[in-house]
Amino acid sequence: MTMLMDPKPLVLHRPAPATPTGVARDAYGRQMTYLRISLTDRCNFRCVYCMPAIGMTFQPRDELLTDEELLRSISAFARHGFTKFRLTGGEPTIRPHLVDLVREIKRFPGVEEVTMTTNALLLSRLAGPLKDAGMDRINVSLDTLDPVKFKAMTRGGRLDLVWAGLEEAERVGLSPIKINAVVLKDHNEHDVIDMARLTFERPWQMRFLEIMPMEGVGMVYDENLITSGQTRAELEATFGPLEHVSSDPGDPATVWRIPGAVGTVGFISPVSEPFCSTCNRVRLSADGKLRLCLLRSDEVDLRDLIRSGASDDELDRRLLGAIWRKPWGHGLAENDRSIGRGMSQIGG
Ligand code: SAM
Repeated sequence: MTMLMDPKPLVLHRPAPATPTGVARDAYGRQMTYLRISLTDRCNFRCVYCMPAIGMTFQPRDELLTDEELLRSISAFARHGFTKFRLTGGEPTIRPHLVDLVREIKRFPGVEEVTMTTNALLLSRLAGPLKDAGMDRINVSLDTLDPVKFKAMTRGGRLDLVWAGLEEAERVGLSPIKINAVVLKDHNEHDVIDMARLTFERPWQMRFLEIMPMEGVGMVYDENLITSGQTRAELEATFGPLEHVSSDPGDPATVWRIPGAVGTVGFISPVSEPFCSTCNRVRLSADGKLRLCLLRSDEVDLRDLIRSGASDDELDRRLLGAIWRKPWGHGLAENDRSIGRGMSQIGG
């Protein structure tokens, strides 16, 4: 396995400008344009790579951002050059007023795209209203097409309901649809063949992810990591050489096509090929913490600032100052796991 780290810039610590500029930029010159928002830390599945089997605790509701606080935070990001907003969690579809939130977010000047990452369980009912409210497209998490393995990996999930949600999302036009599968040894490492085969019939992007050692799933990472290189070898053993489609710097996936397929396959490789140098994203947790890097514990509180009655100007200063201090990248190659929270708590 290759463990490549992005080259570190020479100047690591430049002071923040006295007056932050309007665009959200970090000290390394990377402009942030993409906010991933966790709407809740709760989920209706318990995926083995995301939550521990026991000992999961959830935050009291009064610690989570209210709809009003959430929209106020998002408007601050939109004022500073953020154009793309992804709703995630936890499971975003269990947040009350989701459809209204989408409609409101879409109204802010500067917002170009509102998307969502979901397990699709509730999409049979929600896909149409979300599309009507202005949601652009979705990513669906689906790790296998085998109902028995699906139930095991999600600890109880029903594949038929998820599939119905996915079909409804496609029918109403929440597309292009991307499917995310975390590939795990002894779970679904060979199921990637059937999943990739879907791209012959559907114009979907089937994306294979390396597991990350988030809080609570470190042992699953240690025992079950399958790298993108291994997944690609598995696919090429069946389908022959994949054709390269694109490596867009704003997209963590490198995209390939099986010859003759209408859809594509993507590989997301945070462990074996980190993409920190082109990072354009930060995260907002359900409890209002601005998370600067998924895989580092640095967070800046926006919720208490808002609750203290801060002005928009104060909110803007905190936001821009925090982004200026965004860490260069993660330390997985050095086995640095100072991550602090689980994926469902941060907003994966
Ligand atoms: N509940 C929604 C869903 O299932 O898509 C959204 C939240 S989920 C945390 C977001 C994404 O994070 C999913 O695609 C999931 O596969 C991915 N994920 C969760 N834990 C992960 C881990 N330890 N390593 C890599 N990806 C992970």
